[in-house]
Amino acid sequence: MEFINRQDHDTLLRATFEKYKVKCELSERMFDIFHKMTNRLLEENEKYNLTAVRTPEGVIEHHIFDSILPASLIPEGAHVLDVGSGGGFPSLPLATVRPDLKITALDSTEKKTEYIKSTAEILGLNNVSVICGRAEELTAVEKPAERIKHSELTAIAKQNPYRESFDVVIARSVASMATLSELCVPFLKVGGKFIAMKAEKALHEAKESENALYLLGCVQKCEIIKPYTVDLESDKLFFVTSKRLATPAKYPRRYNQIKKKPL
Ligand code: SAH
Repeated sequence: MEFINRQDHDTLLRATFEKYKVKCELSERMFDIFHKMTNRLLEENEKYNLTAVRTPEGVIEHHIFDSILPASLIPEGAHVLDVGSGGGFPSLPLATVRPDLKITALDSTEKKTEYIKSTAEILGLNNVSVICGRAEELTAVEKPAERIKHSELTAIAKQNPYRESFDVVIARSVASMATLSELCVPFLKVGGKFIAMKAEKALHEAKESENALYLLGCVQKCEIIKPYTVDLESDKLFFVTSKRLATPAKYPRRYNQIKKKPL
């Protein structure tokens, strides 16, 4: 079913770039993919709950445009993990504008990962793959010894297909920064980049997560990046940090511990 035609969709997408004073560098092919992405999301959303956003305008601004914004922070050819991808955001728009990236979308809900997988196929995005599972379970080390030498951590990571294996880990709207860090950082290679997509109102989380970032092996002070310069109510911020050292084997903990006692 078509909720919005191609021409109206192009107009709205262009208007969103103008609203935020961001230069639109999308190709014809990208406009076409985004038009199909919006219609498919709205159609599938009627069958099961993928997003609370229910209008083409909302999908364009809050899902598509928003997801493209971190593209310039991601190095060429990176293997990117999107933790808690939901309806495929930011994975699907990022894969559209950056065909050089290899993107893996992770979510704990199977209907969501199935949706992302089938949508990527329909849209011809062959740089997207999915994993269904809980972030903290995929990277957990079984029975970590109390004292483990730092040099042994590389061997431990090698035994796990996900630990320390992505160049970039990104997440939007999944958890507060300290909790999110414990879910995300174990997936990251040493030298890799962690990008949390946040809003102005979550600025205090940057300070609150310094201890968590330190314990997990990251530079503890996030760089705060504003993706555009106009002042709007819903101001977006990216918290960006990088990994200096392998994550100790005791992290991530079980989810109830992460929730109950954030690092
Ligand atoms: N990133 C998307 C979805 C945000 S909703 C967006 O911005 O639109 C949060 C998503 O994270 C949900 O789909 C939920 O299933 C997933 N999620 C929450 N905790 C998770 C965990 N521990 N491991 C994997 N996925 C998780």
